[in-house]
Amino acid sequence: MKLGIVGLPNVGKSTLFNAITQAGAESANYPFCTIEPNVGVVSVPDERLHKLKEIYNSQKIVPTAIEFCDIAGLVRGASKGEGLGNKFLSHIREVESIIHVVRCFEDPNVVHVDGSVDPLRDIETINLELIFSDIEILERRIQKTQKAAKADKSLMSELNFINKLKDTLEDNKCIRTMDFTDDEQTFVNQLNLLTSKPVIYVTNVCEDELADEAADNPLVAKVREFASSENAQVVVACAQIEAEISELEEDEKKEFLADLGLHESGLDKLIKASYSLLGLISYLTAGPKEVRAWTVKMGAKAPEAGGKIHSDIERGFIRAETIAFDDLVNVGTMSAAKEKGLVRLEGKDYIVKDGDVILFRFNV
Ligand code: GDP
Repeated sequence: MKLGIVGLPNVGKSTLFNAITQAGAESANYPFCTIEPNVGVVSVPDERLHKLKEIYNSQKIVPTAIEFCDIAGLVRGASKGEGLGNKFLSHIREVESIIHVVRCFEDPNVVHVDGSVDPLRDIETINLELIFSDIEILERRIQKTQKAAKADKSLMSELNFINKLKDTLEDNKCIRTMDFTDDEQTFVNQLNLLTSKPVIYVTNVCEDELADEAADNPLVAKVREFASSENAQVVVACAQIEAEISELEEDEKKEFLADLGLHESGLDKLIKASYSLLGLISYLTAGPKEVRAWTVKMGAKAPEAGGKIHSDIERGFIRAETIAFDDLVNVGTMSAAKEKGLVRLEGKDYIVKDGDVILFRFNV
């Protein structure tokens, strides 16, 4: 569940990535995460945990986390091997979603690789590299399928479909702009094309343009328009400010944001947007020792969700005592919730919902 940060040189990727690693989650809580220099692990902000901590009088909060991977070095010509082109493209292949940082800030001290600030041109430059790389993959696939189709005519429809994908790319459009049936989508996912991955565009703006998102900077407005044509999201941030915020304590951070006229940092917005982009939801566990959020894919059933805590729970699953977070907060205590019959006993086919507070019963 990793996201890769990409963008042209000098757009603010490292600055943003440093903010991520500085804000970084306590790694002791996340032993499953890879600790590599270009990987940053951040907690997913979740107000509900603070409420639960009050209700349970818990000692601590353990938020869930996601990983960002800094994929620096993508330049024009990468797909033809410029720079360390292909190496970077292969890193993108390993991530599930892409955070594409584009420069919207003017600063005469920071050189732009193409001489001027133009986020749409930058997006096109990077996307073209990804498109070229995908075309190469499809061409190889077409050759293979053509050979196989000589003996097996049933492969003709697959061949036609792959050609349709390639036509889209040759039109300079990303695969994610296309609409697919479920079967087609499954097939496309197997191809692991770079331009089929979901994207969030992060517009890196000047500090003084942060406060009023409604009065978008015209460059941001252009990026928004383009992103909507791709069903992609946009998060407005100022990398430099994020780097400053990430050094602050929680209460100082709130004050600093308020001074800027903001209620949430760009990084927090990005983390939340990334989380939902990946199709992830959180369920919660609570007790006097800790309250904690756990990540599952949308659609996960109760035993699989329990397996995130311990494989024994999945193996020996009996039931999940479940209450919706809002129901619990409305009545105030777990015992009141039980009296009112708000705590449900869910079985192995129950599909876990975001914000479920769950106690698993299982055989060891
Ligand atoms: P990268 O090459 O995309 O990783 O870009 P960096 O993060 O190294 O940033 C390149 C330069 O732009 C550095 O000198 C940063 O200090 C500067 N920079 C990054 N973000 C901002 C920003 O939001 N505003 C301004 N004015 N400068 C920034």
